[in-house]
Amino acid sequence: MPERIEWLEDGSPGGSPYSPRFGDRYRSENGGLEQAQEVFLKGCGLPEAWSRQPQWCVLETGFGLGLNFLVTWAAWKADPLRPRLLHFVSTEAYPASADDVLRSALAHPELIPFARQLKHQLWGLLPGMHRLVFEGGQVVLTLCIGDASTMLREVSFEADSVYLDGFSPRLNPDIWDAHTFKAVARCCRRGTRVATWTIARSVRDALAQCGFVVKKVPGTPPKRDNLQGQYEPAWEIKKHRPAPPHRLAARCIVVGGGLAGAAVAASLARRGWQVTVLDAADAPAAGASGLPAGLLAPHVSPDDSLLSRLSRSGIRATLQQADLLLQAGSDWNPAGVLEHCLEHARKLPAAWHAGQALADAAADWTAPATAGQLAQCGLPPGTPALWHAQAGWIKPACLVRAWLATPGVAWRARSAVHRLGRRTDAWQALDAAGQVLAEAELVVIAAGYDSHELAEALELPCALALQPIRGQVSWGLHAPGTAGALPVFPVNGHGSLVPAVPLSQGMAWIAGATFERDNTSTEPRPEDDAHNRHKLRALLPASARHLAHQFESGQVKAWAGVRCATPSRLPSLGPLNAAADAWVCTGMGSRGLTFAVLCAELLAARLHGEPLPVERRQADALLPQFDKGCASVPESKIYRQI
Ligand SMILES: Cc1cc2nc3c(=O)[nH]c(=O)nc-3n(C[C@H](O)[C@H](O)[C@H](O)COP(=O)(O)OP(=O)(O)OC[C@H]3O[C@@H](n4cnc5c(N)ncnc54)[C@H](O)[C@@H]3O)c2cc1C
Repeated sequence: MPERIEWLEDGSPGGSPYSPRFGDRYRSENGGLEQAQEVFLKGCGLPEAWSRQPQWCVLETGFGLGLNFLVTWAAWKADPLRPRLLHFVSTEAYPASADDVLRSALAHPELIPFARQLKHQLWGLLPGMHRLVFEGGQVVLTLCIGDASTMLREVSFEADSVYLDGFSPRLNPDIWDAHTFKAVARCCRRGTRVATWTIARSVRDALAQCGFVVKKVPGTPPKRDNLQGQYEPAWEIKKHRPAPPHRLAARCIVVGGGLAGAAVAASLARRGWQVTVLDAADAPAAGASGLPAGLLAPHVSPDDSLLSRLSRSGIRATLQQADLLLQAGSDWNPAGVLEHCLEHARKLPAAWHAGQALADAAADWTAPATAGQLAQCGLPPGTPALWHAQAGWIKPACLVRAWLATPGVAWRARSAVHRLGRRTDAWQALDAAGQVLAEAELVVIAAGYDSHELAEALELPCALALQPIRGQVSWGLHAPGTAGALPVFPVNGHGSLVPAVPLSQGMAWIAGATFERDNTSTEPRPEDDAHNRHKLRALLPASARHLAHQFESGQVKAWAGVRCATPSRLPSLGPLNAAADAWVCTGMGSRGLTFAVLCAELLAARLHGEPLPVERRQADALLPQFDKGCASVPESKIYRQI
């Protein structure tokens, strides 16, 4: 259940929000807008402090109804000298519903357009980190759902400003204690400014204990005083994990113009990098990303495994990009996916079941399929199946082309990279004849399975652990009656069927895919079509019966490609050398649509010392894996060496 809020009638538009859990109002009696502007923004010297900076990062304890975020975003938008990127990281143990967040903003008409956009993205807030992006990716909100001190242990960045907010220290002491402030201090550098509306003695003492120097300043009515200060401990700051330095945007070579490489290019270009994407092929998305259409659907497991959680973060990131860049209906369709649980009937974590604490947030993502949805696929009632609401199909090449069109990205076809060489402080990409194709301070290898060979030329102590997995999909054009005989949404679970995708040849269905390890052939094979048909019979017997004629009369066409997988089934993302200026981004396996954007944003965040898009431990799980006997590059080394 979202947090219960009571709306008190006090004459303000929409009423005044009150928390029965804490017995306190969400905002000051005089309204929250003035408090947000005066106490927090001005209290941290904003907007002047962020003028002409490339990036700015605000950390807030207590997201509440999002008013401080909305006010900061509005101030950023109004400021001609605003930073290129605004990060806002906020913790919240009891997230309010999207409707309540919008209702709370009704009292402030100037914030309503911002609040509507926020509302649109406030769904599926399960415990953990959620990244919401606005303004084409220039305003980034990282919502940490859970206890503040626990969640802040899972982040690694340096905040420029800290807003300490929350219910009164008397009614919610935990968020104001030394335990929480210690976690906040870990995210500060010497000089990080801090502001709050309370001057409670216990708060001042706890802040002082954790290295903050604060003073009372004249308050915003009804408060006589507020508190302002900065992180200035009397002791030397020793960080468990050294803070990553903020790297300046420069030139970057990306090898490979599929989902992985194009996403990296776009993420870096948005931060001011000049990116050259080199690809051996004539056109973008010539490798596995040339798949006619692929599925985007979360992984679900009873223990909500690392893969499941990462898949949700990845899907949220891809949906945001697709929403921004693609044409719904022709390039993608986010209308949901039904998973027919053929092998494991019980997949949902116990806490997601109806009536349990996380049921509502979980249902935004995944819920048991209804009898109606089963009937639409010709499956009998009671068939074990899930409905993934935040899911659908995407044509990967459309995403790739959109990312390559980002200002700052230059695409170079027919540029096969044979070797990467080092020349003083830059990398050179060389072709087979030894000619220099491009030169840059940073290189990112995103060449699918070919990354293995390219990385070898860097003389790493061990080879990257990557495996090629051949796959073939079978597809055909709709005949009269096909649309009515197939489900109206894609189905996965044992192979998959995307029932209706508009291709240049006409409306098509796509079924697949085969899965053959250590095979790098992209030649279509008739026996693979037979295999796909066999799988379809188990997945969707009625659809398989309808398509039988097309399979038998040779009308079915095939597309084959090579996936690149890692032993952990997670992507491989991180620096390959001690100087951390040669990175790899590959190993997307069967989930390139889920992981490409997330990996690209993670790479950019690590390079720039920004807040990571996922919890630290999850991000570490994606560090490159090497062949047996070789450990991954330790993260402490990455940060030290950048
Ligand atoms: C049959 C099949 C079905 C799939 N279904 C789905 C699905 O439903 N959902 C999903 O999310 N994913 C699916 N995938 C996986 C998805 O296609 C991949 O994860 C994704 O496309 C990988 O993107 P990439 O950029 O890492 O690799 P690729 O798209 O393979 O791109 C690598 C690029 O590097 C270039 N390159 C290689 N070597 C060099 C070099 N030396 N110099 C220059 N350029 C070079 C290549 O030309 C290529 O363009 C499927 C894959 C297959 C094969």
